Amino acid sequence: MDLFEYQGKQLFAQFGIPVSEGRVARTPEEARAAAQELGGQVVVKAQVLTGGRGKAGGVKLAEDPADAEQKAKDIIGLDIRGHVVETLWIEKASDIAKEYYLSITFDRGAKKPLFMFTTQGGIEIEEVAANDPDALVRLHVDPLQGFQPWVARRLVYGAGVEDPSEQKQIAAIVEKLYRCFVESDAMLTEINPLIVTPDGEVKALDSKFTVDDSALFRHAAIAELRDTSAADPLEALAREKGVTYVKLDGSVGILGNGAGLSMSTVDVVVTAGGKPANFCDLGGGGNAQGVVDALEVITRDEQVRSIFFNIFGGITRCDEVARGILEALELMQIETPIVVRLDGTNSEEGRQILRDAAPPNLHVEPTMLDAARRAVELAA
Ligand code: GDP
Ligand code: MN
Repeated sequence: MDLFEYQGKQLFAQFGIPVSEGRVARTPEEARAAAQELGGQVVVKAQVLTGGRGKAGGVKLAEDPADAEQKAKDIIGLDIRGHVVETLWIEKASDIAKEYYLSITFDRGAKKPLFMFTTQGGIEIEEVAANDPDALVRLHVDPLQGFQPWVARRLVYGAGVEDPSEQKQIAAIVEKLYRCFVESDAMLTEINPLIVTPDGEVKALDSKFTVDDSALFRHAAIAELRDTSAADPLEALAREKGVTYVKLDGSVGILGNGAGLSMSTVDVVVTAGGKPANFCDLGGGGNAQGVVDALEVITRDEQVRSIFFNIFGGITRCDEVARGILEALELMQIETPIVVRLDGTNSEEGRQILRDAAPPNLHVEPTMLDAARRAVELAA
């Protein structure tokens, strides 16, 4: 789950990471009132779950409350990479002398949190990594050892920060960010830019924060921050029904049993020249209710032109899945063509059950590739 900048900053503040004071605003009038309360120059910042807001015109300085109102008018409704701005964060403006970058991501390959720090902040980190890789200090933390003070020192000296006061402040932020990352079960915490003001004060001017969805049950307060307006309504429905569902942007709906098979199905559809509309994992079972729930989610997606139902029977028996499909088709009206590939335990029986019932929009194919080709054809 991704947090908005202001939500991430509120968590930063709880862990003692310095941030600027600010207010949420949803209308130009609220932006004006917020600027009035904060006093002086403010920054009006689009709150959308994507980066590059500055370049897209979603971050603007305002001189006074009237200006803040005007800037809010300009930014609300702006489309930033497909995200329409509804919420603003109005923050006391900072003077910037230097822009650094600090992040922790979870490195799945190394199975360890990974710190990245560079004095070349403010721009996309991929750019720094590509153009000046030596400027980027990367350092893993052994989760069993936990955070050690030398980690912060190595980051700070490695990146060439020379000012002792900066070194001290950054080292403290590094340690706090680590605590914040671990204690909120984050997958990513990023500060870009981490600024130094002309007075030598170091603080977080932006935040990017991703919390592990599977850990949200431990963080009721964070789970409540979920923005239901921005969330895909289908993903919400799927969550409610306990179906694993990921929205993609093609036209073939994919239903598999097990995450591995569902992912290979996505690949095979692409190999067959198609584009998956989504990825839906039935999990281990194939009972009628599970099939109905998954089909309900898939068919609500208006981009779906055909459905590829790919089942490999292991413990799940294909004849049971076949009955589940037929039951589901009785329980709900589906116009979309469905291509079924059944293989594994009792697959012959399963295919026979489907052939005997022969619902008009159901196509049974013997192999995964044949089925993918058929589904792609039907979606064209
Ligand atoms: P992003 O573009 O989505 O990463 O949004 P940021 O929050 O990082 O803001 C983009 C840029 O706006 C920053 O890199 C700064 O250069 C600038 N900016 C943001 N806040 C302030 C501020 O308080 N004062 C000044 N002078 N510039 C700011
Ligand atoms: Mn930024």
